[in-house]
Amino acid sequence: MAQRDAAVIIAGGGPAGLMLANELGRRNVPTLLLCDRPSTTSFPAANATQARSMEHYRRLGFADAVRAVGMPPDYPTDVAYFTRITRHEVARFSLPAARQARALIKTLSGSWSAAELPHRGSQLYVERVLRAEAEKLPSITLRFGWRVERFVDEADGVTVEATRVADNQTQRFTGDYLVGGDGARSVIRKQLGFHFRGEAGVARDYMGGRMLSIWFRAPELYKLIPFPRAWQYWAVNRTQRGLVVAIDGREEFVFMFQLPPDMDEASITDEWACNALDQSLGVHCPLTMIGRLPWTAGLALVAEKFQRGRVFLAGDAVHLFTPTGGLGYNTAIEDAVNLGWKLAAVVNGWGGARLLDSYERERQPVAQRNTGYSRYYANSIGNFTPAPEIEGEGEAGDAARREAGIYLNRHAREEFNIPGITFGARYDGSPIIASDGIREGGGPPPDRANEYIPSAVPGGRAPHAWLGDGRSLYDTLGFEFSLLRLGPNAPDVAGFAKAAAARGMPLTIVDRPEPELGELYAASLALIRPDQIVAWRGDRVPEDVDKLLAMVTGA
Ligand SMILES: Cc1cc2nc3c(=O)[nH]c(=O)nc-3n(C[C@H](O)[C@H](O)[C@H](O)COP(=O)(O)OP(=O)(O)OC[C@H]3O[C@@H](n4cnc5c(N)ncnc54)[C@H](O)[C@@H]3O)c2cc1C
Repeated sequence: MAQRDAAVIIAGGGPAGLMLANELGRRNVPTLLLCDRPSTTSFPAANATQARSMEHYRRLGFADAVRAVGMPPDYPTDVAYFTRITRHEVARFSLPAARQARALIKTLSGSWSAAELPHRGSQLYVERVLRAEAEKLPSITLRFGWRVERFVDEADGVTVEATRVADNQTQRFTGDYLVGGDGARSVIRKQLGFHFRGEAGVARDYMGGRMLSIWFRAPELYKLIPFPRAWQYWAVNRTQRGLVVAIDGREEFVFMFQLPPDMDEASITDEWACNALDQSLGVHCPLTMIGRLPWTAGLALVAEKFQRGRVFLAGDAVHLFTPTGGLGYNTAIEDAVNLGWKLAAVVNGWGGARLLDSYERERQPVAQRNTGYSRYYANSIGNFTPAPEIEGEGEAGDAARREAGIYLNRHAREEFNIPGITFGARYDGSPIIASDGIREGGGPPPDRANEYIPSAVPGGRAPHAWLGDGRSLYDTLGFEFSLLRLGPNAPDVAGFAKAAAARGMPLTIVDRPEPELGELYAASLALIRPDQIVAWRGDRVPEDVDKLLAMVTGA
């Protein structure tokens, strides 16, 4: 193939495509992103950025920019449950405001030993940050308003045919690799012929069926709700369930409700949707409609393959969630992180061909795991039916609400406190992870949603620590591979550095003499990948260090 337009072409400018552009652009990889929309998303779909995504934003230098978007800094991110949102509050999980996050995370340990807390801010705003950051990178070209139609994967490159939406002008673009971050209806996945496997069409009382989200402006709504502010307001009753999510903390909200099974969504008027909202609120609320989005709950689907040849898929193109647990966009971000450094390493000459093969091997099991967790939460909230007396007066009503409160308080803490899910994903068995083998202290920690056990067993997130000078251990890592020398007796690593240099593999040596860090990693040396995953650990430089480096770089 002659002169290329880009090394990597990305189809889609949602979270997956934009994050990938950031990862590639930070490594100076010539990248062309084509997106059929005129700009970033015009609807507030996802509402939660999990802590692990925030750690990746921190690594790229824009976590603070993301934390600044959404609700005002002092707005609490509580999740609260009501019979109807203006009537009885039955359960509440209090969560911190954005302003508290930076100081609070430094006081936490155990499951929450992390550099960042989650941020509850809409995808509407987060995508704008991702786009603005990508635009700063000279090797990135973003072309919004271009629809990818098809591709040809030739032995030495890909050709992509795209149409400019404004005037139907068609153009071909050439690249070394193509990544389909083009969402649930991905044309790239369809052309590859990859099918989704898993669960679809599950029916539940709530979060199982056709759903409608309406986005509206209602400056009076807070005055109607006689309870402390919350980020999510769930109405749990026997006639009109629904979820109201605060978008800007002042006047914008999204209301998500399930359509009756026999109802055609095209026939739903704004008036009908507003009436459903009023039913969930228990009061009439004057509002101005901004937009609406029909979607399907009850999916837990993962594509049978994530890659063929020079073509890769990421995000909703390969996994579809019910949004309970808030994992769809966050799993998309981690796909982009995983693929980004690998593609860049290959394009920049130090990554081997097996590096790219490891993408599907590592990410597909995580997609299966995460869709499973979402399904669990959808069942937990969607199949909960309150007692008929839930809205009644007197002792029977009080008892029904107490009982619902016990259930919903437990549910909320399960769904909205998930350090195990966000930090605990692992790549055990990956061909580019040097497993410990049989080692005292056992293998990886158990996979639990609500508990994360820091562990440096290779294949998982590098355990985090705050340093004496107030910095995060992560802030001391290099942008590509890092070798941690841990504790007071860490060995000389000149051989490591020499072997890495000989392969052109970027390696930053980080000296951390604190004894507690050696204990945390249960090793004197730990090799950390660019995505902050432990690739190897040990107490001395391996005799054949070059063999190890060949393995972790897929050579
Ligand atoms: C109501 C709702 C609530 C949600 N809540 C959460 C939540 O709280 N937490 C969470 O993590 N996730 C949530 N999600 C899921 C989340 O929105 C998605 O998982 C996420 O947007 C996936 O990102 P993506 O980049 O893979 O795909 P998308 O965001 O769908 O982006 C795909 C992009 O590709 C573009 N595109 C499509 N076809 C083409 C083409 N042929 N050529 C060029 N461009 C193309 C699209 O226009 C779009 O810009 C929610 C979803 C919904 C519907």
